[in-house]
Amino acid sequence: MNVMATRPRRLESYVHGAWAAGAREGVPLLDASTGAPVAFIDSSGIDFKAVLGYGRETGGPALRRLSFHERAAMLKALGQKLLDFKEEFYALSAATGATKADSWVDIDGGIGTLLSYASKGRRELPNTRVLLDGDVEPLSKDQTFSAQHILSPLQGVAVHINAFNFPCWGMLEKLAPTLLAGVPAIVKPASQTAYLTELMVRRIIETGILPEGALQLVCGSVGDLLDHVEGQDAVTFTGSAATGRRLKTHKAIVENSVRFTMEADSLNAAVLGLDAAPGTEEFDLFVKEVAREMTVKAGQKCTAIRRVIAPRSYSEALIEALRDRLGKTVLGNPAEETVRMGPLASLDQREEVRARIRDLSADAEIVAGDPANPSITSGDAVAGAFLNPVLLYCDKPGSAQAIHDVEAFGPVSTVMPYDTADEAVDLARRGKGSLVASVFTNDPAFAEEVVLGLAPFHGRVMIGNRVSAKTSTGHGSPLPGLVHGGPGRAGGGEELGGLRGVKHYMQRTAIQGAPTLLSAVTGRWLPGAEARSGGEHPFRKSLAELKIGDQLVTGTRTVTLEDIEHFAHFTGDTFYAHMDEEAARANPFFDGRVAHGYLIVSFAAGLFVDPDPGPVLANYGVDNLRFLTPVNPGDTLQVQLTCKDINPRASAEHGEVRWDCRVTNQTGATVAQYDVLTMVAKTRE
Ligand code: NDP
Repeated sequence: MNVMATRPRRLESYVHGAWAAGAREGVPLLDASTGAPVAFIDSSGIDFKAVLGYGRETGGPALRRLSFHERAAMLKALGQKLLDFKEEFYALSAATGATKADSWVDIDGGIGTLLSYASKGRRELPNTRVLLDGDVEPLSKDQTFSAQHILSPLQGVAVHINAFNFPCWGMLEKLAPTLLAGVPAIVKPASQTAYLTELMVRRIIETGILPEGALQLVCGSVGDLLDHVEGQDAVTFTGSAATGRRLKTHKAIVENSVRFTMEADSLNAAVLGLDAAPGTEEFDLFVKEVAREMTVKAGQKCTAIRRVIAPRSYSEALIEALRDRLGKTVLGNPAEETVRMGPLASLDQREEVRARIRDLSADAEIVAGDPANPSITSGDAVAGAFLNPVLLYCDKPGSAQAIHDVEAFGPVSTVMPYDTADEAVDLARRGKGSLVASVFTNDPAFAEEVVLGLAPFHGRVMIGNRVSAKTSTGHGSPLPGLVHGGPGRAGGGEELGGLRGVKHYMQRTAIQGAPTLLSAVTGRWLPGAEARSGGEHPFRKSLAELKIGDQLVTGTRTVTLEDIEHFAHFTGDTFYAHMDEEAARANPFFDGRVAHGYLIVSFAAGLFVDPDPGPVLANYGVDNLRFLTPVNPGDTLQVQLTCKDINPRASAEHGEVRWDCRVTNQTGATVAQYDVLTMVAKTRE
């Protein structure tokens, strides 16, 4: 179906495995530049209780049957397929008021986030269905009672209520971690730009890559859906603080302790350093960044810079530079190549922003841009929601209120001067918690003082300077690997942050019991659990034959002074503790010369390896290496190597095997302990 050719059209919801139009014709959604209808939206007649049930009963089990690697492969295939439809998404995106650059953030940024989670899932998660969280907690001296935290997917549905400003990224940045966790989603895009989300969901469903029920879409109101959420469901919300608060206190959400993640208004600050005087590279970078943040997406970005905190003596030069730069912003219909900033999402939204500028004017004067008379190069001056960038200046920000309270969700920022670093931090904190702040400085002391002052009030803090100028991803870009969310006014939620975002959709459970039973539950051998030694060397076994708990107890080797000296001269590590008896004795940790830790590890390998070619392909590292007891000349070493976990790769002929390695001395004391990581073939040659 060619969506562009048939518009304006009635949007449909994708529920219970089928596309469904609302019972009524619906509310028209207008092109932000021309005012022409793009689509009609309505969701009346949908049985929302059944939508939740379908996700829980059909999507959930299908996703949970897959391992993390299989889900990651699914996200990768989906991301790659979506790239094929990019041009179609871009064409429709212009109707939302987005320029090509804005659409890149939304469309490529969204698909990139999906692909990034696919890759994280493959590289950072095991090929299992349950995650282990942290180390074993030994709860008894004789190792008969221990505990291990695990994370397993919630068995409900994630309801994602999204904002109008990023119809693609806003959906995908939440969907990727949700699906990777093994939880189905119901996406509810903001009505204003839902036509683009709907198009992307159509393409997603058409690929047939997602299991049935993993993704449902509601175009229009969610009706009574929230009345039916339960304790295994999760709700995420991005939008206004007022709606967020209303939903967070919804009866079913409160009564059923439904996880609720909120990302709302955020009065993000950018601080210009005391060292960053006009003429410095940091000053120029700051000007560029503030202007960019004001104009990208016409300032309709949750991370945009709203408060510009600058040394008092540089404020005049800063305003001058910003006025000059903002004045060059070409405003118009984003369908035109030359246009650098498009309109706001709707005329209502523009009225809202103008009202907020009036609120801000109680504290600040407008120093650039006329909110009433946009000067546009293309588009409809009457029906298009155009607004020039508006810069305000507040001379006494310490005693002002509105500039720290009011979010004008458009191309609007306020410059506020400060005199000391403390004062800059105080002003930024007056935003009562934000998604992001940035600090432009080349002075490490200023960076330390201000960043540590800002950190408890922000989900992300970016430092900008001349060194990172070319590589910096910028103030306003949430990244898949970094936390996105902020405390207090920003909603108190957290999204993304790599695997942290996946765990938001999983339940952490402490499992206690005898180690052998814990091993059975978690799939990981742990100290005290049964092990099988004797028989074939475990390095002779392929993944198909190897079992958790397969163990090798090696022969012994006595360490001599000659060994230590040989190792020292051979490697060049002639640290005194290995070479000088008297100096070693003076060291509080040693009782005379000791063997190198790496000599112990090397001897251990010499004791446990099986030398012939076989299923073990490579040793790719060790984890958690600790030297626990010094080894003196004459001590005798022995190794106990136990297969700890087995992680077959979904799309390869090998997998990873983690071995618990314990090196003991003649008294049985552990001298070194670590995990040996190997690649092992799935089958024998
Ligand atoms: P809203 O809070 O009105 O809407 C956000 C989302 O919530 C939309 O999907 C909306 O759907 C949905 N929604 C609204 N009411 C309900 C309800 N009772 N039950 C379930 N879902 C509901 O914000 P807007 O998008 O209208 O934006 C308004 C303001 O919010 C902006 O001017 C800006 O200040 C702020 N905002 C902040 C963002 C941020 O990330 N910090 C992002 C976007 C907006 P529908 O569209 O169908 O009403």
